[in-house]
Parts: sequence; C-alpha cells; structure tokens
Amino acid sequence: MTASIQPIPSLLEDVVAGRRLAAADAVRLLESRDLAAIGRAADTVTRRLHPEPFRTYNIDRNINYTNVCTAVCDFCAFYRGPKSPEGYVLDRGVLLEKIAETVAVGGDQILMQGGLHPTLTLEWYEELLRDIKERFPEVNIHGFSPPEIHHFTKVSKRPLREVLERLARAGLGSLPGGGGEILVDRVRLAMTRGKVLTDDWLEVHRQWHELGGRKHGTMMFGHIETLAERIEHLERLRLLQDETGGFTAFICWTFQPENTEMAEIPPAGPFEYLKTQAVARLYLDNFPNIQSSWVTQGREIGQLALLFGANDMGSLMLEENVVSAAGTVHHLTLEQMRSAIRELGYVPRRRNVFYELFEDDDQAVEPAAADPAREKARGVKLPVASSLP
Ligand code: SF4
Repeated sequence: MTASIQPIPSLLEDVVAGRRLAAADAVRLLESRDLAAIGRAADTVTRRLHPEPFRTYNIDRNINYTNVCTAVCDFCAFYRGPKSPEGYVLDRGVLLEKIAETVAVGGDQILMQGGLHPTLTLEWYEELLRDIKERFPEVNIHGFSPPEIHHFTKVSKRPLREVLERLARAGLGSLPGGGGEILVDRVRLAMTRGKVLTDDWLEVHRQWHELGGRKHGTMMFGHIETLAERIEHLERLRLLQDETGGFTAFICWTFQPENTEMAEIPPAGPFEYLKTQAVARLYLDNFPNIQSSWVTQGREIGQLALLFGANDMGSLMLEENVVSAAGTVHHLTLEQMRSAIRELGYVPRRRNVFYELFEDDDQAVEPAAADPAREKARGVKLPVASSLP
C-alpha cells in the first residue's frame, strides 16, 4: 500500500504548530504555486518567533578590498584574474577613509570581502585588521567569507583553526556567510573552479562557531540547482545549526545573471524569491532571524519579504559593488528603509550584526549616496560585477 501524501494545507498547519519540516515536503512546497498559503504560514512562524512590535535593520558599508581572484565563478561579474589590468587592491588610506565616512553617518560595522588574492599573506590581513581596530575600535569588522578563509589557509599553509584564531585576535569580529551559493558539490563544481566545496565551506562555519563566533547563513539560488538541491542546501545549514547554534540569521537572494558567464539563465522573479524565502523560514526552524534581500529585489519586494518570513530588512548598504556589477542596482535611503518597515505596522529598530538593538535609534543620520565620480577621483577603480566568495 502506498503511503498517502499529506495535503499542503494540513502540512502547513503542522509546520506552523511546530513540527519539523521534512526535506521531501519542503520540495513539495517549492513545487507548489500556492504562494499565499506558504507566505501566511511563514509569517505566522515569524510572528511567533518575533512577537515584538518592531522589525530591524542595520547600517554598514560593504568594502571590497580587492577584486583580484584566483577562482573562476561563472556567476560572478566582480572578479578580475591576477593578471588583469582592472585588478585592484584598495589603498589602505582609502579603505580607512571609507570606514571614517561610515562612522560619521552612524555606521558601526563594515562588511569587508574580496576575491581570492594569490599573494596577500595572512600577516597582511592581520595587519589590515589591526590598522582598522586601532583607528576604529568601536567598529565591528564583519569580514572574510568561508571561501576567503579557506583560501588563506592554502596561501599561508596554516591550519584553519590557527587562521581563524589569528584573525580574531587581530580584530575580526564576525564572519559573513557568503560564497555558499548552493551547498551541493554537483552545483558548485559545475559553476566554479578553484573555490571551496561544501564540506570545507561548512567546516569554516563549524570552527568559527566553536571559537564562539557568530555568522550568517546564505543561499544564492535560481541558477542551475534543482529544487531538491535548494532544500539540500537548507538541510546542511539546519544540521550545522543543530550542532553548533552559531548562525544568527539566514538570507537568500536570487542569482543576478547580467554581465556574467551565465547571462543566458533567466533571472528568478519575485514569486520564486518570496516562496523560497518563506519555505526557508519554515525549514530553518532553528535560525532565529531571516533577512530580506532588498538589495537584489528592490524596495517593494524587499518590504513584502517582511510578510513572507523575514523579520529583518538587512543592511542599509553604504556601498555595494558586487550586485551592482551584475547590473542590479537598488538604493534605499535610511528614511525609505524605515518607512518600508513602518508601512507594515512595525516600528523600525536599528540593530548591530549580533542583533543587539541600539538605544539611540534615531541618532543615525541619512547617509550620502555613493558618488562614483568621487570614488574615481580618489583613485578607486570601481569594479564592474554577483556573489562574492
Ligand atoms: S564569487 Fe568570489 S571566488 Fe568566485 S570569482 Fe567572484 S570573487 Fe572569486
């Protein structure tokens, strides 16, 4: 006798009531077209986890310290090969000035990521971190995604634990969860060369968590992965979170094909984005926070994401080179970000990367828009380009 398949409405009822979603059922939800029902279930779970009357955001600056990369990712329009005349390593003075500007507008964090540079040593990164902390002790350095950390172990020939400990001692505050794309080696091998595979990506997270560090989990979807592989990705994150509890949040975004080697793949639209995020909220029952990706989706869908499982608007990025190089350029002012939250009936509250709320929430001033002409005048080569390491 074949076991009967649970109808989706009763499946959603069970998940909302707290039953852990099985992988096969999650695939069925992704296959379903009932966005409204899945969204309502995700929103109910979000309200249960976050009954507070506010929704959060933070302010930071994305600094891409180099675009030189030894890896080749077909979805990335940001990187330049080691011999490219368009390759850059950001001048230290310029980098520090960018942080000073971030602090001046109330930012307390920088997101610092780059390509996999072939020759920069571990000592170079330590010195960079120390320079920043000496000048800006209050700024959290949210830096170096797992592929970069894994690459540092190869260049320095030092064990992963030592690399993480040395970077933490030099001032690294938290690690971003980038470069995960889809954590299935079939997918990774098909679209990247020279970049960390699934187990090693997760190992960077595991060891960082064991050191007491915190991280985000991420997913870039809507390219060559199957729906089952999308769920396999979520399963790997959920298992690691069961083991370490070190993820603070999850954020997913759709692949941005423009200017990449995979430009023929039609971009996933808002329907797929909202459904996938809602399923992720239901699946990742051990993740406390889900962030909207307004940077890739724009204000309206980014706002709607708060009704489809997200409890956080993400960051008001003062500079974004990677997604913009892939042709997706969305900007929000601080007031637009806050009003997007207010329009849904929530109070906007600023938080830091550890999800601690700011008391002086209204002290943040409206940041000036990024000015490409000014960046050029400062000798910064603006990269043209998708997902960093
Ligand atoms: S995604 Fe990261 S690792 Fe891949 S090519 Fe771009 S910069 Fe390099």
